[in-house]
Order: sequence, then C-alpha cells, then structure tokens
Amino acid sequence: MKITAAVLRELNQPLSIEELNLSDPRANEVLVKVDAFGICHSDYHVVTGLAKQELPVVLGHEGAGTVIQIGDGVTDVKVGQNILLNWFPYCKQCPQCLVGNTNHCKTYTEMLGQGKMLDGTTRLTDSNNKPILQLSGLACWSTHVVVPDITCTKMPEGTPPEIAALIGCAVTTGVGAVLNQASVHEGSSVVIYGAGGVGLSIIMGCVLAGAEIIIAVDRSEAKEPIARSIGATHFIKAGKDTVGNVKELTDGLGADYAFDAVGNIEIAEMLLPSLRERGFALLVGVPPTDSKIQLDATDVFRQEKRLTGTIYGSADTGVDFERFAQMYLSGMLPIDKLISKHYKIDEINQACEEMLNGTIARGVVTF
Ligand SMILES: [Zn+2]
Ligand SMILES: [Zn+2]
Repeated sequence: MKITAAVLRELNQPLSIEELNLSDPRANEVLVKVDAFGICHSDYHVVTGLAKQELPVVLGHEGAGTVIQIGDGVTDVKVGQNILLNWFPYCKQCPQCLVGNTNHCKTYTEMLGQGKMLDGTTRLTDSNNKPILQLSGLACWSTHVVVPDITCTKMPEGTPPEIAALIGCAVTTGVGAVLNQASVHEGSSVVIYGAGGVGLSIIMGCVLAGAEIIIAVDRSEAKEPIARSIGATHFIKAGKDTVGNVKELTDGLGADYAFDAVGNIEIAEMLLPSLRERGFALLVGVPPTDSKIQLDATDVFRQEKRLTGTIYGSADTGVDFERFAQMYLSGMLPIDKLISKHYKIDEINQACEEMLNGTIARGVVTF
C-alpha cells in the first residue's frame, strides 16, 4: 500500500515527507494505522548522527495506533485493537528475561537497532523501489507501519492514542526511572536536569512517590509553568551556579536524588555535586556514544554518593505500559499536561525545531 512518512536521507538535513510503498505484514508481523506519535529527542540524535543509524530511514519510536491487518501466526494481537509500539520488546526466555531484567534482553535489539525487521529486511521502499530502513523496527513517523507483533501492547479502553504514544517512550523512561530504579522515597528532595518530555515524566513520578522538594532545572524559562503545573516545587533557570542554587534550596546539603533527563556530559558531571551524602544520581537521557564522565572520588568514597543509569525506565514493559495507562485513566499521572502542541505530519520539521529551541515540552503528531 501507499503511505506517507518522514524520511531522513542525509544527516543534519530536514526530513522529507514522501509517499512510500509499504508491503504486507509477513509471519508474526502486524499492519498498524498510526493514530499518534511523539517527537522524542532520541529521534533527533539520529538526525545529527549522535546515534548511529544507516540511512535512508523513517524515524519514530514513540507511537500508537490501530491494528488493521495481521500476518500468519499472530495470535496475541487482533485487528481493531488500539496498541502502543514498544521499541524494546523482550523474549521472556533468555537469561536476562528469566531473572526479570527484561530491559536488558538482547534477543531482538540487534535487528531492530539496525532499523530492520527480525528477518533482516525492511517493508518500506521508495518511489524508485529502493529499500528504506525503519528506526527501531517501528518507523512510526508515518501514516502506517508494519511491525513485529511483539512490539504491540494493547491499551486499556479509553486511553487516547497520544497518551499511549507517550507511554511508549517518555513516560515509561521518566516515571520508570523514579519508581523502578531510584525508588524515590516519601519526603525526599529531588533535582531534575531538563524539563522536556522525559524530565516532566520524572517530575510526575516524583509527585507520585511523595517527594517533598522537586526542583526542575532547564535552560528555557518557558518550561517553568508546565513544570510547576505537574508538581515541581521549584524552578531554576540553568546558569553559572546551578549546583549552588540546588544547595540553597536543600538546606545547603544537596538533594537526595538527581536525574539527568537530557543525556549531556556536562550535566552528568553536575549530578554528584548536587547530592547530599549517600544521595543517588541517575542518567536517564541518552548520553553520546563513547563519551566519558569524570567523577570526584571523594563524592563516591567518603560521601558514599551513587551514580547509575536506567534504560527505558528499567521497566518491565509487559507490566508497566498498562500500569501507567491505568494511572493516567485514574488521574494519578497527568500525562496530557506533557503535550504542549499538536502537529500534522507535514509539519514535522517545524516540530523538531520547536523541540530543539525548548519552547515546547512534548509535541505530538496526530491524524
Ligand atoms: Zn524516545
Ligand atoms: Zn530475553
């Protein structure tokens, strides 16, 4: 069938909106009509080359839609279901899955990470019949996608597609970081660097966990009202002495928890200095490939501060996607507040620009 998609043909160039050919789903694959997708910074890392990916490729890994056709052997996914797309499906059988570390399953990541389906091919070709890769095996910056059935998770009735899309990346990454990896405790103090989709999701998670002091830091003052509306108790415009400002707000001690929601080395190196003794720091945003972080050994040894990361919110997506959707439906997670602007697919370059200049929290494309 003919579809419309956003194709990246050259690094650091605008995306081209093209009509492509999408072939039918093969065995264990599903055709999905995309209803909504989010603009995540990780997509943009592909545009700049910070994340390695062969081109040309259709971007998009945060999406939701309606199943309209299933291939042979598909049993768990049905035509007509509203699903979200999972960029990190797991196999339930490998050693990591068997001990519950499903976000470290490597069974599918090699193929999907190259932008291919599990048989090593792609379902997309352009008007010259040249193959086009599918980012994360999903490629949801598109009107339709063919994806492996294991990437589809049925959403509870009443979940709006743009909410489901955000649960597919930003929300699970941010809320999962707080609840699954940091286990933020009641009455604690927290600083979050970066108030985009992931940072705001971390704030939501901290509210849920009962944190008392929630400090949002961002270079754009435009983020202050939305950060506060979600539950940040303080906002700092990133500047020369941000760590000093964090200490002023935490009795001179530093925070119990510090999160880097950006994936920036300069920020990563500010995390331990932002903490009090025995504080816990987390890298949540994707750092550049092959980058190194310098730590003050005293922070680690004498102050007993800890630093680790969290990939996909250390989530068990088989449980957490539905859990977070139910939390939205019951009013516990105000995910709708993350969405500051709706776009159409042909406005994709404008949407990327507005994400980069920090004027919006999360932009979503709907159909
Ligand atoms: Zn993402
Ligand atoms: Zn596995």
